[in-house]
Amino acid sequence: MTEIKIPSQPRQQQQLLRPGFRTQSVHAGQQPDPLTGAVIQPIYQTSTFAQPGVETLKSGYEYSRGGNPTRTALETQLAALEHGTAAFAFASGIAAEDAVLRATLRPGDTVVAAAESYGGTHRLLTQLYARWGIHTIFVSPQHPHELEQALADPTVQLVWLESPTNPLLTVVDIAAWAERAHAHNALLVVDNTFASPALQTPLQLGADAVVHSTTKYIGGHSDVLGGAVVVADAVWEDVPLAERLEFQQFAGGAVAGPQDAFLTSRGLKTLGVRMRQHCENAGIIAEWLTSRAVIKNVFYPGLASHPSHSIARQQMSGFGGVVSFQVHGGEAAARRVAEGTET
Ligand SMILES: *Cc1c(COP(=O)(O)O)cnc(C)c1O
Repeated sequence: MTEIKIPSQPRQQQQLLRPGFRTQSVHAGQQPDPLTGAVIQPIYQTSTFAQPGVETLKSGYEYSRGGNPTRTALETQLAALEHGTAAFAFASGIAAEDAVLRATLRPGDTVVAAAESYGGTHRLLTQLYARWGIHTIFVSPQHPHELEQALADPTVQLVWLESPTNPLLTVVDIAAWAERAHAHNALLVVDNTFASPALQTPLQLGADAVVHSTTKYIGGHSDVLGGAVVVADAVWEDVPLAERLEFQQFAGGAVAGPQDAFLTSRGLKTLGVRMRQHCENAGIIAEWLTSRAVIKNVFYPGLASHPSHSIARQQMSGFGGVVSFQVHGGEAAARRVAEGTET
């Protein structure tokens, strides 16, 4: 296979986008419609599917909570891009997180989560799951000994990680975390929203499940909310994760509707080119910020000065589109800068 060089990337970002990624984004799961030959999967805006007889399915579809061809097209596309075997599309990123947690945990279990996790994930774990008897231990993604200490608790069943983290853009060694989680018989779930499968595929690094808020880079146009869980071959308590998630999606019911699945699938087709441009833009902005007197610290894994630079080079094929920074002058100065920004 040939590697695709991206000549327009700034110096620190001479990384490679996975060969074939953009081709797969366009074609995976997008077979012409069998009825009409339409090259784009139609929006099957239907709740239920007529059956020729009792217990015989005409098309394999029965009721849209269990499955809908437009959703299947998106799920096939997502599974291919994340190198998974199955994907499940949900109404939002949080609904996807909720599904993977409920498909694997029960009261009395403990989750270990990286402290720099999305605020909504923190809220879900501490305000909702805590009431259902699931406890969460937060550990610093920068201090591996905290993970090790937390894993000593025998009730830990699941480790939750986001990389790069928000807001410090710490890139966590996913393979190392997978190895530690598995050594303690726990699952590793990675929220891959910030990197997207264009830059990083956690299942190939040992993660058991990947979750996405497809609302962000995957949808890409701020016109649809969505989430996804992608799994490979992991088995949890004798049941494949794919089977657990399929049941959870059907029984829990927080599915992506056909219109949402269509919009997300359409956005996903251009993820590769958008991410390439996001990386280039972020690299330029990060370098520019480092030259400004008011800036105290710039956090961007593409900068050689960032603590995660070397692991980011190994683990990701681009440094992402998010940059954060600290200003001199404390909260008042930070507020002035935030209020002075324009979109
Ligand atoms: C937005 C986001 C979520 C939640 O997704 P919704 O689609 O808003 O429910 C989860 N994780 C990360 C990293 C996010 O940015």
